[in-house]
Amino acid sequence: MTDLFHDRDVQNARRQGGTVPLGGGRVLLLPRVGGFCRGVLAALQRLETVLARAERPVWLLGEIIHNDTVNDHFRGRGVHILPEAQLEQIFGQANPADTFVIPAFGLERDFEERLRAFAADVEDTTCDCVQSVWAFVESQAAAGRTVLLHGKPSHPETRATLSRALGPANAAVLVPTLDHARRIAAAIRAGSLADYPAELVHHPDRLDLRHLAVANQTTMLFGETRAIEAVIADAVRATGGELVPAATVCRATQARQDAARDLCAAGVDLILVLGGFSSSNTAQLLRLAQTYAPAYFVGTAEALSPDRIRHYDPASGTVAETTAWLPPPGGRIALLAGASCPPGDIGDAIRALRRIV
Ligand code: SF4
Repeated sequence: MTDLFHDRDVQNARRQGGTVPLGGGRVLLLPRVGGFCRGVLAALQRLETVLARAERPVWLLGEIIHNDTVNDHFRGRGVHILPEAQLEQIFGQANPADTFVIPAFGLERDFEERLRAFAADVEDTTCDCVQSVWAFVESQAAAGRTVLLHGKPSHPETRATLSRALGPANAAVLVPTLDHARRIAAAIRAGSLADYPAELVHHPDRLDLRHLAVANQTTMLFGETRAIEAVIADAVRATGGELVPAATVCRATQARQDAARDLCAAGVDLILVLGGFSSSNTAQLLRLAQTYAPAYFVGTAEALSPDRIRHYDPASGTVAETTAWLPPPGGRIALLAGASCPPGDIGDAIRALRRIV
């Protein structure tokens, strides 16, 4: 069985300062921090514990984290993983005596309440960083503020946080990008959000653009969250309203972004970003990497061959192949890995690069 938690080649590379010599005088460089974060580790270890004692079927309400290697590992151990878009099926398919596991992103509040009413054995692996964002938005909702939430609308964490940002008397607005934040800033100055996409505004009848709070999905790009907060704060200051900000990018995400930035800024010729294609924190690492050098988002080492690389573009949702992708002799290649990327996948990439470069 795959060891999800350790890889000897990754440990060796770290012992050597994150530097792996490749052919032609090229070098592979790892940032000082990368791969599994503490929240992911805690969720996976909890699921392992559940499996060790389970006598009945174990159901996972969506992927435990966004990484195919990890989810396939647990599928192989008999865990039933419901697709995120089909969670309602649990009430028709499962026996209430089974075991149910809430993924690291959490679940929408209403769904979680119905699950807990349906079944007695519910294991919650929601990361405590996510739960602290929930506590913040719940307190702001209770105070009647309109919550502005920077996050990807389709991401399970953002949906779970949004469900808690809506109290009985307040509105909540999703802010996917900096451009959306600029439109909200203009709306605050104009006193109306009429031109904002309606599907991102929840309970517009309760909208209060003078009493606001802002939070974000834990895995966004740190610099962008600060820029969004600043744009909105400027508009609030101009209108004399109030804004309660909470920079809720988690420390693990920020540490990986900081380490990636330091490595790339030191000078690299090519950047490989490794992780699941639906992983938010990995997609943010790609955005950061693209500002320094050619960068490719690859799922696993299988995407790498001497003459071509298969890579994913989160903006278009497409997979493409590029030929002649390796840097010339003497080139420096950075290998970044998202918080949901297991050590084995990083090790496979190191071994693949040693073979083909
Ligand atoms: S990236 Fe942050 S919020 Fe997500 S699981 Fe890791 S520690 Fe928790």
